[in-house]
Amino acid sequence: MKILVLNSGSSSIKFKLYDFPSRELLLAGSIERIGEADSSLRLKGRNLELDERVALADHRRALESLEEIFKKSSLLDSFEELGAVGHRVVHGGEDFEESVLIDEEVMGAIKRNVSLAPLHNPANIEGIEVIGSLSPSTPQVAVFDTAFHQTMPPEAYIYALEIELYEKYGIRRYGFHGSSHSFVCKRASEMAGMDSASFDTITLHLGNGASVCAIKGGKSIETSMGFTPLEGLVMGSRSGDIDPAIIFHLYRELGMSLQEIERLLNRRSGLKGLCGENDMREIELAAASGDERALAAIDIFVHRIVKYIGAYFVLLGGADAIVFTGGIGENSSYIRARVCERLEALGVRFDSELNERGRGDFLFSTKDSALRLYTVHTDEESVIAEDTYRIVSLAESMNPTP
Ligand code: ADP
Repeated sequence: MKILVLNSGSSSIKFKLYDFPSRELLLAGSIERIGEADSSLRLKGRNLELDERVALADHRRALESLEEIFKKSSLLDSFEELGAVGHRVVHGGEDFEESVLIDEEVMGAIKRNVSLAPLHNPANIEGIEVIGSLSPSTPQVAVFDTAFHQTMPPEAYIYALEIELYEKYGIRRYGFHGSSHSFVCKRASEMAGMDSASFDTITLHLGNGASVCAIKGGKSIETSMGFTPLEGLVMGSRSGDIDPAIIFHLYRELGMSLQEIERLLNRRSGLKGLCGENDMREIELAAASGDERALAAIDIFVHRIVKYIGAYFVLLGGADAIVFTGGIGENSSYIRARVCERLEALGVRFDSELNERGRGDFLFSTKDSALRLYTVHTDEESVIAEDTYRIVSLAESMNPTP
């Protein structure tokens, strides 16, 4: 069965095509700048590589072109041949604790949650609707960024605001990066040879977006992103935690509009705001040559991570492991070392050589470390493909086609 995984953004669609049950990745690619005159369509498969510039007016045209390419390359005659399509959906609100087969009721709930993720859910909905009209009989599955965190207890997800704001308007912590936290936690428990139901871990997803999660026995009990992905760690260009009163000050005293403030916090803060650069590779190079702002940006980035690890260690009542993932977590031995050397109070000890030399998924703590330290490559698309396959196979076994 071929499964197409789609991550539809407002002007881009990322995709991967898998074959199940072998789980072979047949191709991966992206369509960017949808709606502009020079949209780009790139993809790479075993015997296929493409990098085209074409005008793709909207998501429908973009997906029609993709179908055309599949046809020309004899991968599929049409989307109708797909076993299923799995969609990344950013916000499932409180409606979804797990991935689901999409039907009218599910679409209604995703649409109701648009107000919680106005930048993301509309594009996810468009992806689902276009596939639904191009290939009406193909089952579609929604995999939510928020679902994994629905196991958090109320004291973790309710903000200390007027309680009606939660009860009437759903203003609470939702958390994001759920597929990634759950995937790397499971992988680390396998590497530790422990049952995930008794594995307690702190997972650090450090990419352009960054979040940390406390996972007890495979279930999320707390995470740093909140009502939106703006809260928590220092990110590429997002501020993470700030005193909310700064917003009133910027508005009143500096005359900034709410729109400018929103842009400041999302696009011009974090590492970029601190040192003018959001790519950690560049920041590390600048820091190595003594650039004061780059050095300070790294200090602030690491400090915030360490602060969260301390808090989450206590919430978990101790932990078996800390897992690093995301572009920075997987690739920067320097940042891993800077974080781990601050964790001595927790009995954490790491092997510098393993940390520097390790590739792929690896352990880099020493034998006498109180917690195991892992680096795990995250693969959110494979989580979406796995969930899609599982759900569609289950639905088929319950309603076998005559
Ligand atoms: P996104 O959140 O956009 O998916 P990624 O998970 O790809 O982001 O992470 C992007 C970040 O990873 C960038 O800051 C990039 O500089 C960083 N990164 C990638 N490779 C390295 C490396 N070798 N050393 C340090 N940072 C790296």
